[in-house]
Amino acid sequence: MSVKTLISSCCFLSILMLPPAQIASPRQDQPQGQIGYKSAAGADEKKTLLLRDFQPVSMLHAPAHTVDRAKYYVIDVHNHVNDAMGIDDPMPPQRVVEIMNKTNVKTVVILTGMWGDRLQRVIDTMVKPYPGRFMVFTQIDWRKIDDANFSQEMVAQLDDAVARGARGLKQLKDLGLSVRDKSGKLIAIDDPRLDPVWEECGRLGIPVSIHSTDPEAFFHPPDSTNERYEELTEHPDWSFYGPQFPSKESILAARDLMFAKHPHTTFVALHMANWPENLDYVSHLLDTLPNVMVEFGAREAELGRQPRRAREFFIKYQNRIMFGTDNGMDEAMYRNHFRWLETADEYFDYWGYPGQGRWKIYGLDLPDPVLEKIYHKNAERIFGQFRKGARARQVE
Ligand SMILES: [Zn+2]
Repeated sequence: MSVKTLISSCCFLSILMLPPAQIASPRQDQPQGQIGYKSAAGADEKKTLLLRDFQPVSMLHAPAHTVDRAKYYVIDVHNHVNDAMGIDDPMPPQRVVEIMNKTNVKTVVILTGMWGDRLQRVIDTMVKPYPGRFMVFTQIDWRKIDDANFSQEMVAQLDDAVARGARGLKQLKDLGLSVRDKSGKLIAIDDPRLDPVWEECGRLGIPVSIHSTDPEAFFHPPDSTNERYEELTEHPDWSFYGPQFPSKESILAARDLMFAKHPHTTFVALHMANWPENLDYVSHLLDTLPNVMVEFGAREAELGRQPRRAREFFIKYQNRIMFGTDNGMDEAMYRNHFRWLETADEYFDYWGYPGQGRWKIYGLDLPDPVLEKIYHKNAERIFGQFRKGARARQVE
């Protein structure tokens, strides 16, 4: 919506909300012409504007800086552009590269690459034609979970994917929430059938990027007290509230046990370990498990609303955080993230506002050495662990 439409709809609303007759009518005990200090009678009953129509425009006069290009080149470790699953609408690869060039994004990691021929298509259309600009991750084929030799099949599929050019394994949130075997039992993240797969990633030197659970509000009743009421109304299938779902805490506990069981594998706990609302928890996770990294894809809103705590966290864990967006492919999207990380601007829209909740964010104003690590140095260190293990295995 343009600023102009916002302003005009705002004026229109103020007429609706405060009919002139009501504003003008003085209280009986009030002398004519005097402006009162008490609330109007029945004011609460008059606040009937629909939530969807309430679009206030901030009157705050605050500096706004645009950051066209990131201060240091960027590796975006969380994207789905032109992936194998079709998560986002396809975009001509040349246009993607143009957006990256304009914003100083050197490399984009396409997480959802699947396996076999579909993976090969992503490698042939994105990775190979643009050397150094794209990386792709592979995934587990859950349709095979009931096979007697599931673990070995998945290790072989992983080796094949890495031999084709995949450089990591991505796990979606379905593990722990909805993947079931034929008996109907949910597969826990620390299920032993998966151990050989996580171990193989460690041997190959490729990271496992894993998404487990979702915002805390998704596990609470989607009622008037829910800070993501509008989002859950738009996407009722994103609610995991009720006895049919395991608790957020139990899913994360299984994930963290699995992390601890595989100390030689690097795990990227996506979406700020999926608990940016609870940075004490994320701090504890990073303090106890040195093989875990985090990234902040689609969590700018959560982190940006707690700028003092988040800044302290980013500085303390500057070697453990990577830049990720998970928000499509768009110049303005990248610039919004650079403004959040680099400036001290106050009270501005996170990317996608008000999709994740009716609050604004504040810039983190991160020091240069921290920015450089988050923008690319940490990701380069993690991807530098790749050992070309698939080929070594063939030779063995
Ligand atoms: Zn994602």
